[in-house]
Amino acid sequence: MGGPTQAHSYADKARLPVKTSSNPPAVILVEPQLGENIGTTARAMMNCGLSDLRLVDPKEDWLSEKAVGASSGAAEILQKARRFATTEAAIEDLETVYATTARRREMTKAVMTARAAAGDMRARSLAGQRIGLLFGRERIGLTNHELGLANVLVEIPMNPEHSSLNLAQAVLVVGYEWFQAGYDGPDAIMAFNKTTPVTKELLQELFDHLEQELDLCGFLRHDEKRPSMIVNIRNMLQRAELTVQEVRTLHGIIKELRYGRRDDRPKRQPGYKVDKD
Ligand code: SAH
Repeated sequence: MGGPTQAHSYADKARLPVKTSSNPPAVILVEPQLGENIGTTARAMMNCGLSDLRLVDPKEDWLSEKAVGASSGAAEILQKARRFATTEAAIEDLETVYATTARRREMTKAVMTARAAAGDMRARSLAGQRIGLLFGRERIGLTNHELGLANVLVEIPMNPEHSSLNLAQAVLVVGYEWFQAGYDGPDAIMAFNKTTPVTKELLQELFDHLEQELDLCGFLRHDEKRPSMIVNIRNMLQRAELTVQEVRTLHGIIKELRYGRRDDRPKRQPGYKVDKD
């Protein structure tokens, strides 16, 4: 069953439910060239619930105005970022390291998509492992030596003719997959604003009201067709996933159609005669 369903209504929650993690992966940028990329990386990290930023010999100041501006509210991650002289030092406390690369290298090593890596990271993180994600330099990525420090390579499948993402965008995509892997809510819901889905009892009242009027006006005058017409009308209304407010509106519409206020409307009383055809 595809569409939004009433079974999952989060009437008064502003957001879809997500599982937060107390043990998210560290993000390690190896020799990032541009302060702006460090800033936008911090922003992407905050979006994805990541906070441990490690910088290996960064080429620009990560607390510059440019970097902080680009972080757009995630300056806290920049302030807490730690600088390391070597990649080895940046990962020494970690148990599993994923190295991201846009290019397939000539080595025998497990390669995962970002999505598969996200599932793997969740499992390890839950088991209490400290994990990290390595990202390479803007111009040349990671060296083969650095890839050799990692347990697994991660490729974000992209257009093979143009697969290299901007550094912070790569962080965002991997972070996004990490975050989604922790999302355990429904894929689609009906967001009931301030109202609530209608109960079967109220819906039955609407059916009764509508069918009574349809009987009176003659719409359901063919006895042999009546049962299937009623089922069709009910199915139509069930499919609309009506809210309490909408059911109220429909009662009002039915009433007004019958006792309409227009002067030129023939005044009909309950039980008026309908010609059979
Ligand atoms: N020109 C470099 C790419 C640098 S992009 C090269 O050819 O290797 C900067 C970093 O972003 C990469 O080192 C990698 O960590 C990450 N990245 C960019 N695109 C990626 C992709 N499609 N899959 C995985 N990581 C990617």
